[in-house]
Amino acid sequence: MTDAQDFDGLKALVTGGASGIGRATADLLAARGARVAVLDLDPSSVEGPLLGHRADVTDDASVRAAVAAAAEALGGLDVLVNNAGIGAQGTVEDNDDAEWHRVLDVNVLGIVRTTRAALPLLRRSAHAAVVNTCSIAATAGLPRRALYSATKGAVLSLTLAMAADHVREGIRVNCVNPGTVDTPWVGRLLDAAADPAAERAALEARQPTGRLVTASEVAGAIAYLASPLSGATTGTALAVDGGMQGLRLRPV
Ligand code: NAD
Repeated sequence: MTDAQDFDGLKALVTGGASGIGRATADLLAARGARVAVLDLDPSSVEGPLLGHRADVTDDASVRAAVAAAAEALGGLDVLVNNAGIGAQGTVEDNDDAEWHRVLDVNVLGIVRTTRAALPLLRRSAHAAVVNTCSIAATAGLPRRALYSATKGAVLSLTLAMAADHVREGIRVNCVNPGTVDTPWVGRLLDAAADPAAERAALEARQPTGRLVTASEVAGAIAYLASPLSGATTGTALAVDGGMQGLRLRPV
């Protein structure tokens, strides 16, 4: 966990920061002293002290405009949290090419676009850090998650490649690998079940801890990787999964 002064004077941009993990991260960074802007499809729920910027990570022009506007409002940029992402269910037979392109566009190219727009700003920072929200799906071999897993596998390798490319520029790049996190996204999946309460109980029972990960627990890991406290850490993936991977368990 971080202390109030860890982010004093630092400026951060969180994509997908209007909901779930992104919102918990934006709130935590702000509580720890950072000036924080949120980039989201729908930033209408974002309130002060957070600054909301409307953009779609699949639209390069809107990303460039939002990153520039955020940096202008914040007075620079030290921390980029690439968190915006969407889900997909099914085997390779269940998703057509259009669906593959749609999800890859958000989950993988979205990170490429925001990072490309942010790099010139991050190069001017003395504490530059990029944190990508990946997933245990990157390496766990989850059933019926072929497309989603492939996008997160790409996020993991992109994190390592970006860390190598920018280490000598003083820009650190890491990712977090959450397990099943209690966010509006998971709430929507549960609500679609015939018996949401029974589905939630079954999901909790499959967790090593017997409960879902909270968004603020993922935010804590992101904040650590974004702060100068982790100044010697780059090119790593930090699991925030209630022991799912370390204990060699897998959700079904
Ligand atoms: P969420 O749906 O609660 O929030 C996602 C946010 O991203 C929303 O505010 C949404 O408007 C925004 N967003 C979506 N598409 C966008 C786009 N094209 N441009 C800009 N913003 C966009 O989801 P969450 O559960 O908080 O997930 C956030 C991240 O965490 C995702 O990358 C997801 O893959 C990852 N993750 C979630 C879980 C989980 O169990 N919830 C587990 C592992 C990883």
